[in-house]
Amino acid sequence: VETLGWKDVRADFPVLHQHVGTKPLVYLDNAATTHKPRSVIDVLSRFYEADNSNVHRGLHALSMRATDGYEAARARAAKFINAAAPEEIVFTRGTTESINLVAQSWGVANLKAGDVILLTEMEHHSNLVPWQLVAQRTGATIRYVPVVGENAELGLDLDALDKLLTPEVKLFAFTHISNTLGVINPVADLCARAKKVGAITVIDAAQSSGHEPLDVQAIGCDFLAFSGHKMAAPTGIGVLWGRRELLDAMPPWQGGGGMISVVEFSGSKWKPSPERFEAGTPNVADAIGLHAAMDYLDNLGREKIAAHDDGLAEKAYAALSELPGIRILGPKGKRGGLVSFALKDAHAHDVVTFADQDGIALRGGHHCNQPLMKKLGLPSTVRASFYVYNTPSDIDALVTSMRRIVKFFS
Ligand code: PMP
Repeated sequence: VETLGWKDVRADFPVLHQHVGTKPLVYLDNAATTHKPRSVIDVLSRFYEADNSNVHRGLHALSMRATDGYEAARARAAKFINAAAPEEIVFTRGTTESINLVAQSWGVANLKAGDVILLTEMEHHSNLVPWQLVAQRTGATIRYVPVVGENAELGLDLDALDKLLTPEVKLFAFTHISNTLGVINPVADLCARAKKVGAITVIDAAQSSGHEPLDVQAIGCDFLAFSGHKMAAPTGIGVLWGRRELLDAMPPWQGGGGMISVVEFSGSKWKPSPERFEAGTPNVADAIGLHAAMDYLDNLGREKIAAHDDGLAEKAYAALSELPGIRILGPKGKRGGLVSFALKDAHAHDVVTFADQDGIALRGGHHCNQPLMKKLGLPSTVRASFYVYNTPSDIDALVTSMRRIVKFFS
């Protein structure tokens, strides 16, 4: 397992140093949300202690500092994903809001009856329900790229994709890394194929943005969405990246202060992107927190983080597969930093409750993937997910706990 210098990394995260009952905390619920390093927490305190002010319209010192901090965060986010310009970064509350923005703005303006929205069967509800809403509004229909295979072979049916990508497909939205299967989709290839029929592409990068380097220009997508809280940044801040020419051609989706150039009683004119899509007072502090988190991750090195998370997932996969009656979903080899599994005799909620007694934080349920779980014939799975501060001994603790649970329920 690639080492990130665990002792030092763990020391950066205050929340890790606690007990659950008598057991030291082993936090393996990182696909739901990650913890924040001291540098991010300090930046938040410093902002509220020294610079707190509203942005943009202020001409006083604090407002100018807050504005500079907010816009520096935008430039940092652009650099983080190799966007062509800071103006291509729209701050949102997270992945969910970013996808809703594309659906409500681009979708409502561009889709009509007869058009097709292409999704995949492994989408999180937040890359599914917004499209269902926009389909209802516009008369467009939704098609799904099937998930095929069993257990370790589960993945998108890439042979079916070319047949599904007909000229009626106007938009193809898909996840980079599945939060339930750990499958990593070949995003650049999917975008290239969509481009051939003129469809725009939307990538849900919620599970990948904190784990590996992302380059939107190399991937060739049109929109990419991610959440700060899954990559060591605060909750309530996220990013929608979009190609500038697309963003500038899109209508606003929310109205209010900050997004207008002129308002008259008879009507209004909009600012260009990104301001057009940021109505109201933005989340200044958490954007600055996101900036600090991006610095923190790049300091560790995102390639090293990917190797670290993959290494832990592979170790977990190998150790867990020795347990009797276990069904592990998703690839044996390279996968996102998570392992999702079901035990023959124990419901996921019982497994998670038992693991909590051992101080281990896991997640059990449908992971906002209800249609996929139904297709797999599973009510729920248990998910262990890893991040920069996890160590091989966390995996040992997980396996010991699972062994106890299997014994108890068999
Ligand atoms: N997509 C995927 C793949 C996710 O894992 C999640 C978070 N569980 C989301 C979207 C939604 O992210 P958020 O709740 O931060 O908007």
